[in-house]
Amino acid sequence: MAAYIHPTAIVDDGAELGDGTKVWHFVHVSTAARIGARCSLGQNVFVGRGVRIGNGVKIQNNVSVYEGVEIADDVFLGPSCVFTNVNEPRAFVERKSEYRATKVSRGASIGANATIVCGHTIGEYAFVAAGAVVTSDVPPYALVAGVPARRMGWVSRLGRRLRGEGVVTCPESGERYRIEGERCVPLSSDENDTSPIPLLDLTAQNGPLLPEIRAAMDRVIAKNAFILGPEVDTFEKEVAKHIGVAHTLGVSSGTDALLLALMALDVGQGDEVVTTPYSFFATAGCVARLGAKPVFVDVDPRTMNMDVARARAAITPRTKAILPVHLFGQPCDPEALVALGRETNIPIIEDAAQAIGATTKLGPVGGLGAIGCFSFFPSKNLGAFGDAGLVTTNDAALAEKMKRLRAHGAHPKYFHALIGGNFRLDAIQAAVLRVKLPHLGAWTEGRRANAALYDRLFAEAGLSSDALRTPARVETGHIYNQYVIRTAHRDALKKHLGESGIATEIYYPRPLHLQECFAYLGHGKGAFPESERAADDSLALPVYGELGEARVRRIARTVIDFLKGRA
Ligand SMILES: *Cc1c(COP(=O)(O)O)cnc(C)c1O
Repeated sequence: MAAYIHPTAIVDDGAELGDGTKVWHFVHVSTAARIGARCSLGQNVFVGRGVRIGNGVKIQNNVSVYEGVEIADDVFLGPSCVFTNVNEPRAFVERKSEYRATKVSRGASIGANATIVCGHTIGEYAFVAAGAVVTSDVPPYALVAGVPARRMGWVSRLGRRLRGEGVVTCPESGERYRIEGERCVPLSSDENDTSPIPLLDLTAQNGPLLPEIRAAMDRVIAKNAFILGPEVDTFEKEVAKHIGVAHTLGVSSGTDALLLALMALDVGQGDEVVTTPYSFFATAGCVARLGAKPVFVDVDPRTMNMDVARARAAITPRTKAILPVHLFGQPCDPEALVALGRETNIPIIEDAAQAIGATTKLGPVGGLGAIGCFSFFPSKNLGAFGDAGLVTTNDAALAEKMKRLRAHGAHPKYFHALIGGNFRLDAIQAAVLRVKLPHLGAWTEGRRANAALYDRLFAEAGLSSDALRTPARVETGHIYNQYVIRTAHRDALKKHLGESGIATEIYYPRPLHLQECFAYLGHGKGAFPESERAADDSLALPVYGELGEARVRRIARTVIDFLKGRA
């Protein structure tokens, strides 16, 4: 569709008009002007030599667009608005060489009778009110009014007022913008994404592997070999190599791994086990199930891991084992721990349920003490299709003993010198884990990358340590089963993130010494203040490997915006 030119209009030779552009009564378009498609030039408009006007521009009556003015796409110029082109005009001085460029950026609107003094830029989607005199640059999305023009607020792409600070929403389109001081920036389409983010997305992790996993399960079904057997044997060899320990035994859960480890060390009635009150219940639960006493010591406030100096102080002649947890995937102070074990000769059982693949200067977790205990609960870094776990040791005799205890203590079958239990790993779970194990390293790297990005974004936000503390990385081999932040506004933040579609979790809302079932131990509130503080102010954010950078940024921004508003 060619341009429409009213018979009273004058379009000089060499001017270009785009398709569908309409030029109304008494318009004059000078030579070499280039006007885009779908524009409308109202009555009495003048367009100077060589002026560039984009597509979809509406120019109302009586506007002169002089040389030096550049109009981008979708600009609206209200009736009788004025552009100047020289700063110090004198009728008797030739100043053509002093034309100063004025730029009206995409989507901006200029109201009726407004004046734009030359040499300034009107930012994208900015709004100049009727009658304003613009004497400085107008930032994108700004609403300016008055003489001289001052910023009165912000508007959306659709020209609606944006009220408030931080992330604000256009009432018409729902598009979101970030307002920070003298800047208003539309959130990118990624950032505008409001789809729910789960704490963990197992579909994303398992999906690509499902054909292989199904084939592996079929292999077990075809053989009817459901308990232990070759799948479990092979998995044990593969996972021993992956972790870097001499012996591994597949067991029925992380909890049973702990129980089995404690049983193998003959922990029972009258014994004490020094451990942390800030962990999943199973850590202390297994100790109590065997009739032994969990002796809690408080955590290091930086890592929320057991404070090893406090563990040392809690040792008595009854101490049968020391049971640290590598919480959230960060090794519990390996040097202090190994030294303590060596000096006291008390065996260390590592609760490494959350820390598969974590490493330390002294070697991998699971090999630092007498026995390591791992979990393949689906939310752990390596998750089975149900309950599953693992014990590890570098001690051949302990491995042999645990192997017997895993199957009721029998040796040979039906002859029992020991009382064990049924702690066996299902062959189906071993088959699933064998498919997933080769990917564990990459998944962990994904978690580490997400954690590093969170760390950086949170550091850049410059919030007070009261408002936000990121996980302290004291040990290098952290595998980020959880990325746990700490904030004085934890509960309100959790609620806000939930409303923003971002799932979070509190690990753990009540420390173990305050659990009803451990009331008999006689610890009141305040007994372990660091653990109690952690229970009050910690919050786990999604950190799974498939999360992707855009979602990490969205989560970080949502956290930062919320906490900034409260600082
Ligand atoms: C998950 C977990 C356990 C228990 O593992 P399950 O496989 O669920 O029985 C024990 N300790 C810690 C620290 C855990 O995170």
